[in-house]
Amino acid sequence: MSEVRKNIEACLARLRIAVGRAGRPLEDVTLVVVTKGIGLSLIYEALDCGLVHIGESRIQETAIKYNALNQYAARRERRIIWHMIGHLQVNKVKDAVYFFNLIHSVDSFRLARAINAEAQRVGKIQEVLIQVNVSGEPSKSGFSPDVLMGELEQMKGLAHIKIAGLMTIAPLTADLLVSRSCFHRLRELRDDISRHGFYALTVLSMGMTHDFEVAVEEGASLVRIGTAIFGER
Ligand SMILES: *Cc1c(COP(=O)(O)O)cnc(C)c1O
Repeated sequence: MSEVRKNIEACLARLRIAVGRAGRPLEDVTLVVVTKGIGLSLIYEALDCGLVHIGESRIQETAIKYNALNQYAARRERRIIWHMIGHLQVNKVKDAVYFFNLIHSVDSFRLARAINAEAQRVGKIQEVLIQVNVSGEPSKSGFSPDVLMGELEQMKGLAHIKIAGLMTIAPLTADLLVSRSCFHRLRELRDDISRHGFYALTVLSMGMTHDFEVAVEEGASLVRIGTAIFGER
């Protein structure tokens, strides 16, 4: 069995235990395979395991891989669902709207407006998530939780984006209590916003290799996993 396949099976086993502990069905959680920095042949192995949610963080790298991966999947009667998980610059929005099914990383009103304008131009409703900097680390992008409600209110007029949920990146720490409180807070924010009725937010994109079980326990619906599948980059 290939290393990638073994790793994916191990991830799925961890995921099953985590959803079991949380009393959630496995179908509640989608595994996004993070392929940034990874070559095509290893990504083909992940596709061979039946995984179709692919997460990339750079437009240029996506452009290089896009056709090859789509064709590989199409030959197996599958379709890749493309996730943009990295910071997106406004001047790359045109490509992002072309490539991605879901953009996880909307971190400014200006970016939301640019995505909306491009989606309108090409006749698409672009699904997006709003990135929240729950931990407040200066190195991270994302809206501060304090301004989130107001910013979302502004975005209400953008008819060509569909805001499906929230995304966060927890601090890189071995202390899973810190990660848990970050994920818990994101879930509370999602629930508050939904209760206020502007948006029916369903998606929570949270959890990576070292903290995805905790994220699942706190309600994650998308987990973004790279290292546990492909090894250290
Ligand atoms: C790289 C990356 C991941 C994957 O992290 P791993 O620790 O390799 O699983 C998840 N989310 C984002 C936003 C990333 O940039």
